[in-house]
Amino acid sequence: MKTFVYIDHFKGEVQPASWEAIGLAKTFGTVVALVFGSGLDEIVKAAFEYGADEVIVVDDSALTDYRAEPYASTLSALASSSTPDLILFPATARTRELAAMSAVDLNTGVLTDVTKFELNGSQLIATRPIYEGKVLEKTVCSGKPVIATIPGRAFLKPERVVGKKGTLTKGEVKAEALTTVQGYSASESAVNLGDAGIIVSGGRGVSNNPALVPPAGMDEKQAEIWRAQQGFALVTELAKLLGGAVGASRAAVDGGYIPYSHQVGQTGKVVSPELYIACGISGAIQHLVGMRNAKIIIAINKDADAPIFKVARYGVVGDLFAIVPALTEALKKKLGK
Ligand SMILES: Cc1cc2nc3c(=O)[nH]c(=O)nc-3n(C[C@H](O)[C@H](O)[C@H](O)COP(=O)(O)OP(=O)(O)OC[C@H]3O[C@@H](n4cnc5c(N)ncnc54)[C@H](O)[C@@H]3O)c2cc1C
Repeated sequence: MKTFVYIDHFKGEVQPASWEAIGLAKTFGTVVALVFGSGLDEIVKAAFEYGADEVIVVDDSALTDYRAEPYASTLSALASSSTPDLILFPATARTRELAAMSAVDLNTGVLTDVTKFELNGSQLIATRPIYEGKVLEKTVCSGKPVIATIPGRAFLKPERVVGKKGTLTKGEVKAEALTTVQGYSASESAVNLGDAGIIVSGGRGVSNNPALVPPAGMDEKQAEIWRAQQGFALVTELAKLLGGAVGASRAAVDGGYIPYSHQVGQTGKVVSPELYIACGISGAIQHLVGMRNAKIIIAINKDADAPIFKVARYGVVGDLFAIVPALTEALKKKLGK
């Protein structure tokens, strides 16, 4: 069985689930990694070292920044000529679009967020969560090739074998219209909740510290946002200390405290870190579906009856403005930082 693995990267930084996809594909047979962009030597080297048998590299200035149309046309042309059985994508905002567009070009379908594959003869049976993770469905794709996205941390990352080499093939850009990207919002691109091993999240509670006096001249809403920013500064400091990412509830996002790219939950990101620390989050079902698969959940909340405590392994009832800084200080001492 031949599998194409699309290596997703943002400005040269590869989404680790790309390597996890190579590890998964190795269990089925031959792995061909697809690397698109410009200045790709390091990524190509890494793709071989993580186990790709072949790397098809399309290194062209027209692909410097991700654009759905040229990337999808190039990928579809390669898949039409090399006829892989399976195309795997790490699930990201870019690949959701790219996988769907390629599936249309190739007249097949996309299985999204697959967490398990089984081979029945030559047929691939995929398992994936549906209904907000309440049900696991087994499904097959009747089209060829099978196209699937896999979430971060669902499959093991293979060992990197330094110096490992394979067949390098150069591909060409296939696109009728090429556009360029003028710029990105740094805050949007820097958030990578899906791959984070540790997430510290803030909810509406981060704005609730009446003792904080906002600068003069602010109206009520501005004062709320200002207070929330002081709260998120504490959340961010703890996340940084632990080498983790900052998450948020929808109330915090809707309140204008933090950008949407941080939102965890039904209409945000679904995450499965080793450790999730929820600060000032009540634990509404729409939030829980996004984080309840975390291995260890710690909740910090003033309200002992908050539903978040039902899923938390450790709970601290109290004011996050006292507890989070105390936790950060204690951890600094413990970690010698
Ligand atoms: C269709 C739909 C989709 C949705 N999608 C999402 C989603 O993706 N993600 C999501 O999160 N929500 C989502 N929601 C919203 C969800 O229902 C809740 O409204 C939201 O999660 C509440 O956020 P919160 O816990 O931060 O706020 P609240 O429910 O207001 O909870 C705030 C908590 O902070 C505590 N608190 C207050 N002050 C302090 C303090 N100083 N110290 C400690 N604790 C304190 C309070 O006791 C309270 O428990 C969705 C809703 C709908 C209808």
